[in-house]
Amino acid sequence: MAVGVVLRSHAGGYLVYLPEHDLTLQCQARGRLKKERVSILTGDRVEIEDLDSAMETGVISTRLERSSLLSRPQIANVDQVVIVQAVRQPEWNQLWCDRYIVHFQLELPDSVPVLCFNKCDLVGAEQQERLRRIYESLGYRVVMVSAKTSRGIEGLLDILGNKITVFAGPSGVGKSSLLNRLEPSLNLKIGVMDHDFGVGRHTTTYSEIYRVHLEKWNIADSARLTWVADTPGFNLAELRHPEPHDLVFEFPEIRELSEGCRFNNCMHLVEAGCNVLEKLASEEYECVEEDGDENTIIVSRERYANYVTMVNESIAEHNIRKETSQKKEAAVKTVGGKRGKSVNIPRLSGKYRAKSRRTEKQELVVDIPDEEEFTNLEADLDNLD
Ligand code: GDP
Ligand code: ZN
Repeated sequence: MAVGVVLRSHAGGYLVYLPEHDLTLQCQARGRLKKERVSILTGDRVEIEDLDSAMETGVISTRLERSSLLSRPQIANVDQVVIVQAVRQPEWNQLWCDRYIVHFQLELPDSVPVLCFNKCDLVGAEQQERLRRIYESLGYRVVMVSAKTSRGIEGLLDILGNKITVFAGPSGVGKSSLLNRLEPSLNLKIGVMDHDFGVGRHTTTYSEIYRVHLEKWNIADSARLTWVADTPGFNLAELRHPEPHDLVFEFPEIRELSEGCRFNNCMHLVEAGCNVLEKLASEEYECVEEDGDENTIIVSRERYANYVTMVNESIAEHNIRKETSQKKEAAVKTVGGKRGKSVNIPRLSGKYRAKSRRTEKQELVVDIPDEEEFTNLEADLDNLD
């Protein structure tokens, strides 16, 4: 029995790669799988029968168990996400960086996202170090690269081997350029903002994983087979939010301070006597030392501001969800009341959905703190239509 990886699904068929045979096949799924509604996604590992190596075809008989499932883009068995940010052009936006981190920590809780700062040819060493320090001190792996000059690319190769890695980040930061650098044969389109064809229009987007040939790089044999995927940028409405009280778990430094907070249900926003706020308000708020100098918790003003913004966003999201589910309940009509034989018929119409979507936009606008964010948001909302 041959086992392969689904590289892409297209019009009911699947492109499947078989590592043992180094073959790429056009496959159909057994009718039984369709009947049982077994979904087969990009990244899935599958068993192949009726293998015809001359015709390069086969039939998928079984889908193997998944180790993870990314929802947007839908890819199974993703091992890690590399969050790509540009140091300039577009100007680095820490709020968006932190939003991506939180989103992917929620999407793949078992893997810590890697931060990759691209376009390092555009800034000096000092600024690169500043960015590196912010996130390394929080426990994230940081890779500084330039797709243009290839500088630092080895730092990426180190983490790619034998894995499925998704490259995510806003449009224009250089994701396609980086992937082309790693694997020139990919020939992904560069600088076409439109290539992010999923943005804002659909929640399900096209997904494909690409093989990167690491043979030409000087790394161990066992790490040579590796897969990468490009993702479209996200807009605000597409990001995942935790429950407002749980956001603190996505900010390691704030979480650590929050352990000293004596309130059980504290969100560390305005509560008098809150440990986080007290520490932030004190003189040395940027460098709080606990039990000697080994355990230094630094909560930067920017990260805390982003935490507050995102708590508000998650409260807004939470309220929308509550409101929508209440509307759904109210929209059920009960008919045929005799002897417990009544049935509930949903009244939910297209109009209802359109309305709740508008509400969502308005709610989100209210919570945006500064002008720059507001401009970004407007751009995001434009993308939605
Ligand atoms: P994507 O939307 O994230 O896939 O970004 P692209 O790969 O399409 O790149 C967007 C723009 O940034 C293009 O004009 C690229 O030439 C440019 N770019 C990408 N990487 C670098 C880099 O390392 N340095 C500089 N200066 N420009 C880059
Ligand atoms: Zn608190």
